[in-house]
Amino acid sequence: MTAHFDIAIIGSGFAGSLLASIARSLGKSVILIERGEHPRFTIGESSTPLANLLIETLADRYQLPWLRPFSKWGTWQATYPNIGCGLKRGFSFFHHKAGHNWSFDPYHNHQLLVAASPSDAIADTHWHRPDFDLFLQSQAVADGAEYTDKTNLSAPMWDGNSWLLSGTRPSGNFQCRTRWLIDASGPRGYLHRHLNLTETSFAGFPNTVGLWSHFSNVHRWESLHPQFQGAPFPPDDAALHHHFDGGWMWILRFNNGIVSAGFALKEHLATEVGTHQPEQAWQKLLNRLPSVRAQFSDALSLRPFSIQAPLAFRTGEASGKGWIHLPTAAGFIDPLFSTGFALSLLGIERLGRWIEGGMNPEGLADCGRETLADLDTTADLIAAAYRVMNDPDAFQSVTHLYLAAASYSETARRLDRSHLAPGFLLRKRPRFYANIQRCFAAAGHSPAPVLAHQVAETIDEVNIAGLADPAKLNWYRAVAADLLTHAHLLEATPTEISEMLIKTGFFS
Ligand SMILES: Cc1cc2nc3c(=O)[nH]c(=O)nc-3n(C[C@H](O)[C@H](O)[C@H](O)COP(=O)(O)OP(=O)(O)OC[C@H]3O[C@@H](n4cnc5c(N)ncnc54)[C@H](O)[C@@H]3O)c2cc1C
Repeated sequence: MTAHFDIAIIGSGFAGSLLASIARSLGKSVILIERGEHPRFTIGESSTPLANLLIETLADRYQLPWLRPFSKWGTWQATYPNIGCGLKRGFSFFHHKAGHNWSFDPYHNHQLLVAASPSDAIADTHWHRPDFDLFLQSQAVADGAEYTDKTNLSAPMWDGNSWLLSGTRPSGNFQCRTRWLIDASGPRGYLHRHLNLTETSFAGFPNTVGLWSHFSNVHRWESLHPQFQGAPFPPDDAALHHHFDGGWMWILRFNNGIVSAGFALKEHLATEVGTHQPEQAWQKLLNRLPSVRAQFSDALSLRPFSIQAPLAFRTGEASGKGWIHLPTAAGFIDPLFSTGFALSLLGIERLGRWIEGGMNPEGLADCGRETLADLDTTADLIAAAYRVMNDPDAFQSVTHLYLAAASYSETARRLDRSHLAPGFLLRKRPRFYANIQRCFAAAGHSPAPVLAHQVAETIDEVNIAGLADPAKLNWYRAVAADLLTHAHLLEATPTEISEMLIKTGFFS
């Protein structure tokens, strides 16, 4: 007898496993099929306020009480102290000129700190994926999903009504049938290869290469630059970015002593430093950035370097008859601005609603179109950031665009006014979207002060976080006053905003 499931999910990363739990909660039979085994290393670690709000929303909607504590640093530490996690109070950016030391100046030039939360308790997190993904996979099993790991699938067969999946695993052959096939196996993954799908590209996006590892003994930036004492948050308790001509670097710190760090580089720089020899390339990049070299002076790489070239990927088709890609299987752009989890969770949210709505083919096709539209908009944003990577003022303006749209979306959702923030980066607000596209187009072409002015005008209708304010000298704290003053942009009263802030723990 071949077992039959309503849904088969290929890949048990956090996204596949979480979707399995949601489908189980909606009464569907699910099989989760993994090629490798947990715990396993995987990259992609930093969450955002929108991602965490989506975690909360999914936990509540699908009665997954074990999920909710992951939405904040405080509840995570209290509930799951043994699952590796990093404290993320916001985003820190430092611009470097090749060959020069980075130095702190009283006007905070060449830096941008944007707080996403006022305290550690309700801060965002970095997910130590070996622990986190293992937990989610185990939870999917506890929620009733069938699970098979070390399973090597061959091409799926569609008989006009259902899929036949077959392959091998250490204990012998594997076979099952399913009506719906969901690919959560990542970029250039299972269905991409076996359905011979086309790979396209993001219009206007540069060719980039990724180079990364996990480290110990990475010095804290503020230990090398003590002037950050009065900053909105310690810049290391954040997604810390160093950006420079030709690329940027991320540094994410976990509470288990591990630090995730890596570079995303334009192709010409990757070629120049020779990323095919990763250790040497890493050292050459540090040599170009003397202050970053100081930060890594005692660092030890805990695993071999990973290289991904090309880093970006976009499928031509995100869904078809009886199948769909989760967002990361449909496309990946770049780690800049930590958009991956939010995009994945939006895709999971859509599929949750699709299951609730009776799982019809038209609905699945809509989910696929939305996924590609979200990815394309994100790629436009990050392409604009790459064009101004070496111009700190213009880079900050592009960052303001992103953070204004993201903070507005999150707050609108929290206030139950999702209709004000349709689509990732508000891409379905026609006037805003047209203006943001004009800003993207201007990045790298207009002088920085002109771009700054254009961005300030564009975000005016959604700027609830007080961004793009020269008086703040590039240090943005999370303060209630900004939200209260701009309550009208959310069609809310100051009282409603206060109640929302109390509910989120903002004042505790
Ligand atoms: C360098 C880099 C940095 C990133 N940083 C961030 C960040 O800071 N913040 C953020 O939000 N996002 C980030 N991302 C994106 C993030 O990694 C993804 O959004 C996230 O990993 C998606 O999780 P997933 O569960 O969909 O896929 P994955 O975590 O990739 O899991 C896919 C699973 O599928 C399995 N699999 C693969 N092929 C098969 C097969 N044929 N059969 C069965 N199983 C298979 C794999 O073994 C794996 O377990 C980053 C991505 C990269 C490349």
